[in-house]
Amino acid sequence: MKVLVINAGSSSLKYQLYDMTDESVLAKGLVERIGMDSSILTHKPTGKEEVTEVSEILEHTTAIRKVLEKLTDKEHGVLNSVEEIDAVGHRVVHGGEYFKGSALVTPEAKAEIRRLFDLAPLHNPPAIMGITAAEVNMPGVPQVVAFDTAFHQTMEEKVYLYPIPKVLYKKHRVRRYGAHGTSHQYVSRIAAEYLNRPIEDMKIITCHIGNGASLTAVKGGISVDTSMGLTPLEGLMMGTRSGDLDPTVVTFVMNKEDLSISEVNSMLNKHSGLLAISGSSSDMRDITDGWEAGQPNETLAFEMYEYRLRKYIGAYAAAMDGVDCIVFTAGVGENSIVVRENVCKHLTYLGVEIDPELNKIRSGDPRRISTPNSKVEVLVIPTNEELMIARDTLRIVQEAK
Ligand code: AMP
Repeated sequence: MKVLVINAGSSSLKYQLYDMTDESVLAKGLVERIGMDSSILTHKPTGKEEVTEVSEILEHTTAIRKVLEKLTDKEHGVLNSVEEIDAVGHRVVHGGEYFKGSALVTPEAKAEIRRLFDLAPLHNPPAIMGITAAEVNMPGVPQVVAFDTAFHQTMEEKVYLYPIPKVLYKKHRVRRYGAHGTSHQYVSRIAAEYLNRPIEDMKIITCHIGNGASLTAVKGGISVDTSMGLTPLEGLMMGTRSGDLDPTVVTFVMNKEDLSISEVNSMLNKHSGLLAISGSSSDMRDITDGWEAGQPNETLAFEMYEYRLRKYIGAYAAAMDGVDCIVFTAGVGENSIVVRENVCKHLTYLGVEIDPELNKIRSGDPRRISTPNSKVEVLVIPTNEELMIARDTLRIVQEAK
């Protein structure tokens, strides 16, 4: 069984082809600059040479056609024919309250994803473009949608409601949804497997910290709280996003600076976080370099980031009445030795003790960085959202047969 996983953005499309008999990646790649001059397709077939092609790709249907051409190419391909693809899995950001897990693509599912455009105006429309493009290029091949929000649908009402007039929830579904659910679910499962413990008995805090960043409290294998809210702006300080702030800051600044809704949205999503405080970069590598060199702006950005992260870890230990395991994942979580070290050195009250040498090891595999004495297991687990989507796709397609 071969599954093609697609992650469609407004001007990009990432893909990964799996052979699900052994979950191996046959090929992966990326189409960039869709709808612009000189679109770029980078195709990486496993065991063969990477190839880059520049051409004009005006929309997603052409992008997928080009990808399929590469997958079946004599020289760079990994398939004899497109018919070998048994199913397609799509990443979709917002599943609202309707999707509590991954689902088969049906006309109703597509209509529901469209109804959610309001809540994810940047992300759900390209997902629909990706689905339509796959349907055109691979008619009859079953397709599945996997949602960033679905894993968090287990949150209780007391957790997902905002303490604001309830009519706003009834009329507009204003509530907390969370994001990065596929990643939080994946790494929490791998953590339990790695520790050889039943996930049903575990209290895990998963820290997905990359460009976007969120924490989830996973109790008994389900999400009981997560730091992102109505949109991926709530919660932690991120590369360019503010995370939590007093909502009055928004109205106050709009009034004082005469900003429109889109300007203030752009300020909070694209010009805040590490970038705003350092004044130089949203990339944790640059922030860390500046902090190590004693530059004041980067140092403040690093300290704010670390402080806000550890406050959330404390909050989620409280939310679950304890914590057995903390998992670091995504770009910063998997790679930044100093972020992990500085966060964990303030968690000794929870019984956290990490081994500085284990923390320095770099590897692409799940690994423990806590000492044998630590009361809390601290793990670094590379996330793999594509594999999680491929597994869901396989399961759902087989169930539907
Ligand atoms: P992601 O969104 O998960 O792809 O994460 C991307 C982010 O990870 C980058 O913007 C960097 O801030 C961060 N990152 C990647 N490598 C490192 C590293 N070696 N040290 C610190 N941060 C890193």
